[in-house]
Amino acid sequence: MPIGSFHPPLRTLMGPGPSNVDPRVLEAMSRPTIGHLDPLFITLMDEIKTLLKYAFQTQNELTLPISGPGSVGMETCFVNLVEPGDKVIVCQNGAFGGRMRENVIRCGGTAVMVEDNWGDPVDPQKLEDALNSNPDARIVAFVHAETSTGATSDAASLVELAHGHDCLTIVDAVTSLGGTALKVDEWQIDAVYSGTQKCLSAPPGLSPVSFNERAKERIRTRKSKVQSWFMDLNLIMEYWGAGSQRTYHHTAPVNSLYALHEALILLQNEGLENAWTRHQNNHKLLLAGLEAMGLSLLVEKSHRLPQLNSVRIPQGVDEAEARKTLLKDYNLEIGAGLGPLAGKIWRIGLMGRTSTSDNVMLCLRALDEVLTNIGADINSGRALSAAQGV
Ligand SMILES: *Cc1c(COP(=O)(O)O)cnc(C)c1O
Repeated sequence: MPIGSFHPPLRTLMGPGPSNVDPRVLEAMSRPTIGHLDPLFITLMDEIKTLLKYAFQTQNELTLPISGPGSVGMETCFVNLVEPGDKVIVCQNGAFGGRMRENVIRCGGTAVMVEDNWGDPVDPQKLEDALNSNPDARIVAFVHAETSTGATSDAASLVELAHGHDCLTIVDAVTSLGGTALKVDEWQIDAVYSGTQKCLSAPPGLSPVSFNERAKERIRTRKSKVQSWFMDLNLIMEYWGAGSQRTYHHTAPVNSLYALHEALILLQNEGLENAWTRHQNNHKLLLAGLEAMGLSLLVEKSHRLPQLNSVRIPQGVDEAEARKTLLKDYNLEIGAGLGPLAGKIWRIGLMGRTSTSDNVMLCLRALDEVLTNIGADINSGRALSAAQGV
């Protein structure tokens, strides 16, 4: 038998990403492929840069999507800014801070770790202490929205502390972009990376990044070549840069860029602040329902991400079995816990286009039914009316 075409089911994606992609974006992606040096494509690239500047709230000239998932955006920041021998302070309060450390080491740098409990925000006092005891540090890196826990950190304060000690900042905004307030210029972030498949609700595979003048200067004055050819921004700028010759660097993922363009237009039409408010409102609905059920969130109220809700698993529940049933019977995907939180939490994402009141209701109804059926100790039948009352 020859292998047939692949037809995925229509799932509701309420995990830590990817989120549901709007049909308009999927339709844009299926338009005819054109050459990546076609003048029409160059116009599209310029529009994407403008739309990304809006999403990031920045005037940075060097704002573009890197061809590769969020992880490639992360590497792009580290390989360009970290030189062998550099000391980098990495704040870790979840899984992704650990990957930053790994990046620093692979660039030949030394990582000084500032650690907080998974579920807590980065503690500015601990960063201050680390900056004081490491006057030779050159960079501070942290995750704005920790998707492994659902906690947000005070990016503006952390950047200010870093600058007070002459350090550049690398900020992971993969989950915050388009979902919660992120103000690259106002907060003076030097280098930031994100992803398309979380709150932008474009398909996975692209990573928007932005670098300010200080970061560009650091890259220009490097003593050694960037160790990655593909991610060397000096070369990428020849292709994406303003006034550049747009010479061939690599073949851009043309159709994925159509999709990102359309997703950014949806964001522009809604308005960035309205998108932030929508994420917050739907989080409140979900929370009301979960609490009525007797469930609780891992993260304290003041640091909760509306787009990623870490729910404590009730005693005696086989968490993997419950997730399997949600997927099989309700076409609903939620996420598991990572690292020390594996088996302790579920991660319910309300990212981008997935963040609707209908999806919140679907999730509450499904969770209520599944947990009731397996005899979990919850208040059955109360979640929906509690959410409707918000
Ligand atoms: C998802 C995520 C990444 C990695 O993005 P990929 O697209 O999966 O490579 C990095 N950091 C954070 C905080 C994330 O949520």
